[in-house]
Amino acid sequence: MRPRIGLTCSVRADAPAPVHELSDAYVRAVVAAGGLPLLLPAVGGEDLAAEMLAGVDGLLLTGGVDVDPAWYGQEPSPRLGRVSPERDALELPLARVALARGIPVLAICRGIQVLNVAAGGTLVQDLPTEWSDAIKHYQDAPRWFGSHAVEVLPGSRLAELLGQARLRVNSFHHQALRDVAPGLVVTARAPDGVVEAVEAADPRRFVLGVQWHPEAMWEREPVFLHLFRGLVEAARAAASGGGAVSPAGL
Ligand code: MN
Repeated sequence: MRPRIGLTCSVRADAPAPVHELSDAYVRAVVAAGGLPLLLPAVGGEDLAAEMLAGVDGLLLTGGVDVDPAWYGQEPSPRLGRVSPERDALELPLARVALARGIPVLAICRGIQVLNVAAGGTLVQDLPTEWSDAIKHYQDAPRWFGSHAVEVLPGSRLAELLGQARLRVNSFHHQALRDVAPGLVVTARAPDGVVEAVEAADPRRFVLGVQWHPEAMWEREPVFLHLFRGLVEAARAAASGGGAVSPAGL
């Protein structure tokens, strides 16, 4: 049996005929990694989040629009981008419940931001105007192209999965982590110091967030599929009871 991986979707709620949608790249990455992708529509809040998680073995928080800064106690900066109240209302509880239950989590782009805020951290609302000497983090290049370097923390789970201390990643974000939540540790940074990856401080937990988009890179650079394999294998272990770690926050 393939471990069931729940993937969050976006919703175009203001369209004449609203639709939930998710890039095919995430779905194919989960299948290629050996998982069974199950799409979680952006509907409901804490109640539905808990029930959705009861039906999956692992959670993949996908990319998308900005997190409403109200979730980390701030007012919107003039440079804040589009937000999705529907996604926030579901995904923040999804992340919190997954962390509390010890469900394996892979968080990508917006996902790493959701993960950090859910665990008590804050965000930079706009890198170009709020981060001194920021490099270009919203590339004008193909999705698969690694446009900037990241330095990976030796000994981290990320380093173990990627097998490299330095690599180039794609970049499609104007926000980033500012205060990293308790229980998470930074495992990769861009040359300008911007956080590019975090993971659970507890090495028994599979909680991994990356600011780049590995789902758009793995077909050309197979090393990036290892992040999805890591999630799927952790979900398999959790489903069989072998990887269960007593829930204690993070
Ligand atoms: Mn970047």
